[in-house]
Amino acid sequence: MPDPVIPLPKPTVIPTADGDVFPVRRVYCIGRNYAAHAIEMGHDPNREPPFFFQKNPDNLDPSGQFPYPARSADVHHEVELLVALKSGGTNIPLDQALDHVWGYGVALDMTRRDLQGEAKKAGRPWEIGKAFERSAPVGVLRPVAEIGHPDQGRIALSVNGELRQEGDLNQMIWKVPEMISYLSDYFELGAGDVILSGTPAGVGPVAKGDKMDALVEGIGSMAVQVI
Ligand code: MN
Repeated sequence: MPDPVIPLPKPTVIPTADGDVFPVRRVYCIGRNYAAHAIEMGHDPNREPPFFFQKNPDNLDPSGQFPYPARSADVHHEVELLVALKSGGTNIPLDQALDHVWGYGVALDMTRRDLQGEAKKAGRPWEIGKAFERSAPVGVLRPVAEIGHPDQGRIALSVNGELRQEGDLNQMIWKVPEMISYLSDYFELGAGDVILSGTPAGVGPVAKGDKMDALVEGIGSMAVQVI
């Protein structure tokens, strides 16, 4: 390889429960994937085609700390199941989609809701509300070999010990195999891609000093301090 003219960017890796790391290639996030959350955001929960936005790989942050971001006064928590792919491709059939999953984790899709709201109203992209620094706190990943493919179980988030979000993985409008298959019709998926699979009802604001506790049954929990 010719010499790089600037230092090579550091690859993003997420710790696994076994002490290894999972290298990240791309981050896809699905919107409005739990009916009760679609309703609370003012949308029809019927089964319209899924839609996706992206965060940047280096937005993922396993540190357990979430720095309150600049330029927003309304930052919301969204607890989500993270799906980590070990392989990919295009036009992946539904019945082969889960073969591409390496494992699962707990993630937060932190959102500058005020900026996202302005973007929505203006018909603009969402990155300014979604893809900011350290906007996706993540817990350790656990492999399919150990936990299988969780398709039901409690998903919840509390702030300072008070329950804010609660749902069940079985309430997802688009299931994990459907998300993978659908995405692969539009993008070439690859090893290292992760999917944040949407959030249940109860999203709301956080403030500096808050402690968020996120949980997905069958996968694990994660504590994140807002600093
Ligand atoms: Mn989300």
